[in-house]
Amino acid sequence: MPLSLLNDFLYCPRRAALKAIEGIRSENKHTVLGDIVHEHADLPGYQVAKGVTLLRALPVWSERLGLSGKCDVVERHADGALAPVEYKKGKRRAFENDDAQLCAQALCLEEMLGRRIDRGAVFHAASKRRREVEFTPELRALVERSLADLRGLLDSQHVPPAVFKPACEECSLFEICLPKAASEDSRAERLSRQLFQT
Ligand code: SF4
Repeated sequence: MPLSLLNDFLYCPRRAALKAIEGIRSENKHTVLGDIVHEHADLPGYQVAKGVTLLRALPVWSERLGLSGKCDVVERHADGALAPVEYKKGKRRAFENDDAQLCAQALCLEEMLGRRIDRGAVFHAASKRRREVEFTPELRALVERSLADLRGLLDSQHVPPAVFKPACEECSLFEICLPKAASEDSRAERLSRQLFQT
């Protein structure tokens, strides 16, 4: 499974299912901005800045979790500590899905290198601010639990129904998913059921 699918799943299970089961992809301004932000980080290589080595576009995987993907940047600090850094397009804001994706990258690195990784960071391009993320037992458990749920969803081959929520407004699949119409449909269905019962 791609690491990014975990992020999609925590954003909205239907989004992950539409992508992974139906194979649907779509762009909107948010995905295009995200691609632009990743342009530099997607070029493999390394540089040293202020005593920290920055490894860019580093491939990572986990046999145990069945995951693969890449880290935008992995920092190697002077004391040997490693920290994955994920680039995001928006302003500095904490999102559970972003933190879980970062933590999943750390779990891959831990399995590959046989060493503990305690923290990483999300770099928010719009505000040019960095947010440190600690890989707590709770966050690690969320990743493991969500991956099990995601695997169950993919095994079921069932796309969950749309439920309109604020996150839908920024979803690149909005025009395909039509969550408002789907909500209307279910309301119409409810009303017709009530009518039939009377
Ligand atoms: S539009 Fe909303 S319900 Fe549909 S996939 Fe996106 S987030 Fe999920």
